Amino acid sequence: MSKKVRVRFAPSPTGGLHLGGIRTVLYNYLFAKQHGGDFIVRIEDTDQTRFVDGAEQYIFNCLNWCGLVPDESVQQGGAYGPYRQSERKQRYRVYAEKLVADGHAYYAFDSSAELDKMRDDLKTKGSHTLQYDHHVRMDMKNSLTLAEDEVRALLSDGTPYVIRIKVNPGNQVMFDDMIRGSISFDTNNVDDKVLLKADGMPTYHLAVVVDDYEMQISHAFRGEEWLPSAPVHILLWQHLFGLAAMPQWAHLPLILKPDGNGKLSKRDGDRLGFPVYAMDWRDPSTKEATKGFKEIGFLPEAFINLLAVLGWNDGTEQEVFSLQELVEKFSIAKVHKGGAKFDFEKAKWFNHEWIKRSEVSSYSTLVKSILEQKGLDIQDDNYLHAVMELVKDRCTLLDDFYTQSHYFFADPLSLDEAAVKPKWDEQKNAFFNQLSNRLSDLSNWSNVEIESVFKELAAELKIKMGELQMIFRVMLVGSKIGPGVFIIAETIGKGSTLQRIKSAVAVF
Ligand code: GLU
Repeated sequence: MSKKVRVRFAPSPTGGLHLGGIRTVLYNYLFAKQHGGDFIVRIEDTDQTRFVDGAEQYIFNCLNWCGLVPDESVQQGGAYGPYRQSERKQRYRVYAEKLVADGHAYYAFDSSAELDKMRDDLKTKGSHTLQYDHHVRMDMKNSLTLAEDEVRALLSDGTPYVIRIKVNPGNQVMFDDMIRGSISFDTNNVDDKVLLKADGMPTYHLAVVVDDYEMQISHAFRGEEWLPSAPVHILLWQHLFGLAAMPQWAHLPLILKPDGNGKLSKRDGDRLGFPVYAMDWRDPSTKEATKGFKEIGFLPEAFINLLAVLGWNDGTEQEVFSLQELVEKFSIAKVHKGGAKFDFEKAKWFNHEWIKRSEVSSYSTLVKSILEQKGLDIQDDNYLHAVMELVKDRCTLLDDFYTQSHYFFADPLSLDEAAVKPKWDEQKNAFFNQLSNRLSDLSNWSNVEIESVFKELAAELKIKMGELQMIFRVMLVGSKIGPGVFIIAETIGKGSTLQRIKSAVAVF
């Protein structure tokens, strides 16, 4: 019987959640959901020096915003907890000691001065690596070189030590990556990584293997920057639990900067003017605030969509996918091996598509608060929805709703006189005065009726419709933008229409 699908996202709470991080979450989530499996979030906080206050809650806020809610986590709980590695501290030592007892790991008592000297000596010898590995370990102060009673004495004296994996040279370590296929490593190049630190905390290498085992993880997807660590993890699986229990791995390609080939960084976003974090991140130590996709007006549906197709497609021309469709169509095997360049213009295109496609009621609260922050008074949600329907095709970011719709809620702040003045004359003045009179008598205030009154009068006075409509638009909107001008008049109502004509005539 095949194992139940259980995948995990394993962030370290060290700062803002980057596009690449959320894409890793997304691929994990999609894979879990399409196999009826569980999506687990495990907080990898064993490196206390990199811990950042508030970062864990921030990660969950981002996942919530994206709609990628875990089945098990620090917040949801679950049968395999605790889900924070610092709370699992005692478990890792047992495994580290077992590795020592079985001859796969050893105690290392080297002081930092001794480690520095080792590296200096290697440099002097012109060695191409400065690693603690099979070349140097027999010259160092560890349980492979010291007598057993010396080791016991050091341990009982409380001498600080770490536990290192003992990697034997001359072997090939292989595994099948779900994206890259078969990958092999030569153990000659693998160093004796620290597994348990002097403070009793495991390193990432030990913790990730132990937790993936204890949490019965079936598939592990992570960024390709972890590929070089894979041989150590595979050796640990071999020694501790047997390779049959090891999850299937997929190493996800990097998201690349738009210009050049390197990994996209927050600095690239700052330099080129776009966010790389999902949501606002304020670093508690520097107080530096960074806007995220949410704050600049992306819909979560669009954000998820643009991430999904950064390095994956379903083999067709389709680009717009809902989360549900992604669950159905995503395939980890179709993730491209090479990194995908991030394109902010394309990202905005996705947002535009989602603004157009979504029910306005699903994001009207956001738009309402944008409009209110700009000082507009929104009294009626039905009216807001009707306005949003009229202008949503013109909006790329949520903030655009202000530019595109403020005149539905308040008189225009200014009128584009430069557009109107050259066309304005006595005849136009007469037209708009008469139009006001006829419109004020109109009992059925609909765009069709308004348009027919307008056209009739234009024909009577023999004035070209095009110019009149442009002027009418500037009167109601302030500028030449917007949907059909008669629809605008219908929507803002008779009172506002007549009053705007009157004040504009006085200006022109
Ligand atoms: N804690 C690692 C990170 O921050 C997790 C890598 C993994 O998924 O194994 O990315």
